[in-house]
Amino acid sequence: MLFGCLDKVTYVQILTLIALAEISTVAQHTPMRLFSTNSPESFVDFGEAVLRSLPSDNGLYMPEVIHELDDAFWSDWKTLDFQEMACRVVSTLLQGVMPEEDLREIVSEALNFPAPVVKLDDSHHVLELFHGPTLAFKDFGARFMARVMAWLNRDSDKPLTVLVATSGDTGGAVAHAFHNVPGTRVIILYPSGKVSGLQEKQLTTLGGNITAMEIDGSFDDCQRMVKSAFLDVKVSKACNLTSANSINISRLIPQMLYYFEAARQFEKPPVFVIPSGNFGNLTALLLATRMGLKVGHIVAATNVNDVVPQYLTSSTYQPRPSVATISNAMDVGAPSNFARMVEIFGNDWNAMSTSITGYAYNDAQTRDAIREVHEKYGYVIDPHGAVAYLAAEAWLLQHPDDITVILETAHPSKFPEVMHEELGADAVKIPERLACLADAEKVSIPMKADENELLQWLSANPA
Ligand SMILES: *Cc1c(COP(=O)(O)O)cnc(C)c1O
Repeated sequence: MLFGCLDKVTYVQILTLIALAEISTVAQHTPMRLFSTNSPESFVDFGEAVLRSLPSDNGLYMPEVIHELDDAFWSDWKTLDFQEMACRVVSTLLQGVMPEEDLREIVSEALNFPAPVVKLDDSHHVLELFHGPTLAFKDFGARFMARVMAWLNRDSDKPLTVLVATSGDTGGAVAHAFHNVPGTRVIILYPSGKVSGLQEKQLTTLGGNITAMEIDGSFDDCQRMVKSAFLDVKVSKACNLTSANSINISRLIPQMLYYFEAARQFEKPPVFVIPSGNFGNLTALLLATRMGLKVGHIVAATNVNDVVPQYLTSSTYQPRPSVATISNAMDVGAPSNFARMVEIFGNDWNAMSTSITGYAYNDAQTRDAIREVHEKYGYVIDPHGAVAYLAAEAWLLQHPDDITVILETAHPSKFPEVMHEELGADAVKIPERLACLADAEKVSIPMKADENELLQWLSANPA
């Protein structure tokens, strides 16, 4: 027999090894599951959570288990190259979802631009998240989501149609993220005349698998039309419709990675200061901490839409209509990721308010901060980053020995009026990849704000 010539000890060792190998294979191949925050008892697989975006019970998908990174990871995480570190983190979270090589390819294609940490002084650092194609951190999430969706649809002969309504920025990030991704196309609805000139160019000049519908109506009309297409079972099926909703769980995954990347550059865990609206960016950090990333503290910075800072001090959660500000990507009155935050802290206000401190600032304070950062450090910070800078200052006042990392979520050139008003016309240069859009030709399909027109168009153009 096979083990006849082995002594007993070796035989037992071999059996143990086989058993261990079996256990680790099982662990690796038990794919992760997700539940809805509104029904913790029922589960879906990762593919369903990504392609559906939203559970039908209006909750949010959350991973059943958030695996901690193992000792082997922590012993070399500071020396790994970024792609390698990123793959280890993602594959630990997404266990058994896809083969390692596919994951590697997706991560390296999605995150093909840097996220540098710029030092202002010993206690202030800026994590620049605007080096992607649309100059905002949403590129991270959107580019990863696009490639994961294409991967999930890989065996279908029908392309995936991503249908999205935008009031400006999200649509641009989604369009760029899916541009030239095989097996996908994007249809963006935007309100005619209600997005900025450059934003419109970002939506309408890509061509290829990106189609822009210019709706004669409001953003709400666009959203209503998109909703009606999803509710129409025939059209939805014929077009293989999916939404690239900002609460899609896959978006949060790559957003964890820049926290790891930034934190490993410091001797002691830094305090992350996060300018927040829907709190996706902050939720991504919470996931990273659940995987074992150590942080000094978490600071949530908002403009006057301060529902979460209010909750953190009062324990009362009171969503309300949003107010327009100069940091407009954070004008959110009912943050969509709040349910995930509550879930991560096991519905324990004490736990959340111990880990996260919130601060809120108005536009006048934000403008002052833009000038202050420029005068003190010669650094040009955008209105969202400026809100975070103020919160970092407030935190450092109480904790002067801490190291803060302020997330700079968008390039200042995306907010030309405010920047010109505070710093003069020459302070901000538009990066070449955006500037060249000014000359590109706009192509859009004009459409009335009418659900039936969209349904007809989709029926006539199923792919
Ligand atoms: C979306 C966005 C935010 C807010 O991020 P959340 O994840 O929604 O909290 C902040 N800054 C900019 C520039 C954004 O585009």
